[in-house]
Parts: sequence; C-alpha cells; structure tokens
Amino acid sequence: MDVVIVGAGTFGASLAWWLARAGERVTLVDQFEPGDRRASSGGETRLIRCSHGADPDYTAMARRARTLWRELESETREQLLLECGIAWFAHREDGWESASERTMAAQGIPAERLDPAAGERLFPSFRGDDLAFVLLEPEAGVLRAQRAVRALAASAAGHGARLVRGRARPAGDEVELEDGTRLAGDRVVWACGGWLARLFDGLVSLSVTRQELLFVDGGPAWRAPGVPGWVDYDRAVYGTADVDELGVKAALDHEGAPLDPDAELVDVATTEAGVRTYLRDRFPALERARLAETRACRYELSPDSHFIAAPHPEHAGVWIVGGGSGHGFKHGPAMAERLAAALTAGVPLPPRFALGERAPGSSFRSAGSGPTASAPARTHAPPAARG
Ligand SMILES: Cc1cc2nc3c(=O)[nH]c(=O)nc-3n(C[C@H](O)[C@H](O)[C@H](O)COP(=O)(O)OP(=O)(O)OC[C@H]3O[C@@H](n4cnc5c(N)ncnc54)[C@H](O)[C@@H]3O)c2cc1C
Repeated sequence: MDVVIVGAGTFGASLAWWLARAGERVTLVDQFEPGDRRASSGGETRLIRCSHGADPDYTAMARRARTLWRELESETREQLLLECGIAWFAHREDGWESASERTMAAQGIPAERLDPAAGERLFPSFRGDDLAFVLLEPEAGVLRAQRAVRALAASAAGHGARLVRGRARPAGDEVELEDGTRLAGDRVVWACGGWLARLFDGLVSLSVTRQELLFVDGGPAWRAPGVPGWVDYDRAVYGTADVDELGVKAALDHEGAPLDPDAELVDVATTEAGVRTYLRDRFPALERARLAETRACRYELSPDSHFIAAPHPEHAGVWIVGGGSGHGFKHGPAMAERLAAALTAGVPLPPRFALGERAPGSSFRSAGSGPTASAPARTHAPPAARG
C-alpha cells in the first residue's frame, strides 16, 4: 500500500515508522525538519504516564506506547525514555489520582499510594502538608521528545520511507506541495497538529494556545537520575527534574492565549509569578532559584481533549489525525499501531476520535482551566485522622 503522511510530529512520524517497518511504501512530508520546535512534538521533554483517571483505553494505550518506545530505542540505540517515575499530588481521596490508581490496578500497571511525607525522599526539596496522598507511577517518566521524533523519522527512512520537506495543502484525494508537485497514495494522512483546523475548516474542532515552560536552576540534586516527574492535577501544574541540564522544568497547565499556528513563538516568562507560587508551596528550595530558560510552545486542543483520528467524509482514503490536547506525545507509536490497523484492515477506531464539533469535556492532562496555580480548598481529612 502507498501511504502519504503530511506532518512529522509524534503522530505522523510514528505512523511512518510503523508502516515502513511493516513494508508499506511511505512518503512523509513536513514543512520543517522533524523535531522542529515550532511543532508541538518539538519540545526537549514530554511526560509519559499511564494515569488517565477512570479511562481504561488511554491507560492501556499509554502502557502499550511505553513498550513501543522501548522498541524504537533498541532499533536506534538511543536512550529516549527516562524511567524516573511520575508522582501525582492528590488533594482529594476521590479525585483523578484514585480513579487512575483503580484503572491501573485493573490492568496490572504498577502504582504506589504513598503518604505525603514520602515526597521528602523522592524530591530534593518537598512540602506535602496540603496533600491527601502521593500516587507514584514508578514505570512512568520522561521522553526526550525532540530526539524521539527525529529517531522515528530516521528509522522510518531506514525502513524505506521517503522524507519530503515542503508545505502541503489538500487537493481532493491528493497532496499538493507549494511548488505544485502532487503526491497521491492509497491512503493520505494529514497529521498536522495545530495547523489542522485551517487545513480542514469546519471538519475539526481545535483551538491553538500559547503555553509556557519555565526551567529553573535547581543545582546538582535535581539532576540525580531517580528524581521523578510530577503532576498536580487539581492545581494544573506539572514538571520534571533537571533532565539533560536544561534546568528543573515547571509549567502551569491552564489554557494559554490563542495563538496562530504560524505565529512566532516568543520566549517570555509571563507565568513566572504563578510558577514561583507553586514552587514555594511544593518545592520550597526552588522558589527563588534562578530562571534558566523559558520556552513557548503550542497546544492544539480539542474541546473534550480526545484525539482526532477519522476518515475525511468526502475523500475516500484521506484521514485526519491530531488533537493531542496537551497529552498526545507519549501515545504516538501506540496510536500509530491502531491507525495502521484502521488504514490497512478497516479495524474501527473509537467513535470519540470522530471529526466534527464536540462538547467541552474532561481534561486528560490536568484540571487545566484555572488562571493561577493557587491551592484548592482542602477537601480531605488530614493524614492522621485517616488512620
Ligand atoms: C508545552 C507542551 C507540553 C506538553 N506536554 C506533554 C506531555 O508531558 N506528555 C504528552 O504526552 N504530551 C504532551 N504535550 C502534547 C504533545 O506534545 C502534542 O499533543 C503532540 O506532540 C502533537 O503531535 P502532532 O503530531 O499532532 O502535532 P505536531 O507535533 O505539531 O506535528 C505536526 C506537524 O505537521 C507539520 N505540518 C503542519 N501543517 C503542514 C503543512 N501544511 N504542510 C507540511 N507540514 C505541515 C508541522 O510542521 C508539524 O511538524 C505537550 C505539548 C506542549 C505544547
């Protein structure tokens, strides 16, 4: 089968890798080099975790993705997945974290419920007196995202895929490049991240927002290999230890201002005060740490944070894929496996990946919409009272 894929982010490059490995004839087109920071997949690091609240499908897909990232690592001899664990800071007994814990337990995925005080042995600096518990996913961690996308594309090329640099637009069932070249295939897949809404106006419901990542200089203790990544779902903040000497990463996860997908990404720290408030509350030694770096990047958000993966209603063989919604990176290779089955054998994908309008729904990255990282009202009994 001939497959043309436009977009070499995590979804498109993973699909190219998967199909080329399976012996299909693949052309992978992108306006940038794979891993370019203007693509959502172009950041240095992304979290990989199985916790998805009560949702068994994303949970299982993330677990499967972990296995496939490992396969890519052994194929390319690159270390892409740092299994440092992820700590979830639970403010409630009955929130996202307990739902995740139950879902993971049902699938045999390791997760440990810890007393908040245990955070002191996980992190070089920690305060957890506002927490109900910490949920540690020991086999979760951090993906070297940009390197992983480059590895996917290089490996796809190694299996025979053709990589084409150019900006494309849909032309019926085909792909037209800016120089007028037409590319056709048995299947054409548009995996164009934040650019999808403009390419398929009216078919996909996506908003593109400006997000900020801050990196502070935490010193050598935060560079030790076992320091976990972390997510505070209810306060909508997440981060990592200091990976590859980039600094300790901390980011507010509420939706930023709308941003045109072609607009320049300006690296200014508009969220610094909010991030520092959170650091003061959770990792006190970092509150005044030197700001080492700021990176702006783009979310491409579907209203319900479910992915998009569906055939075009008018063009047989044309597919639209994206809607990563701030949690798509890790799933790339596992989505590719499912997409390949859909493209080559007609295996159905979940109806929730369909095109069209969607009602706003729950978030699979964090509670996500509050303007600050301020502490939620305490809704749990203090640890001593829980026995
Ligand atoms: C700050 C931030 C933090 C995140 N954190 C996490 C995390 O911790 N864990 C996680 O799993 N996910 C995370 N995500 C989400 C994840 O990174 C994205 O959902 C995912 O990378 C989207 O991948 P994609 O392939 O759909 O899009 P992209 O990576 O944007 O790729 C789309 C590609 O299509 C190309 N393209 C677009 N239009 C055209 C055209 N007309 N012609 C040619 N090429 C075109 C673009 O150049 C681009 O390379 C985060 C995202 C951001 C921004």
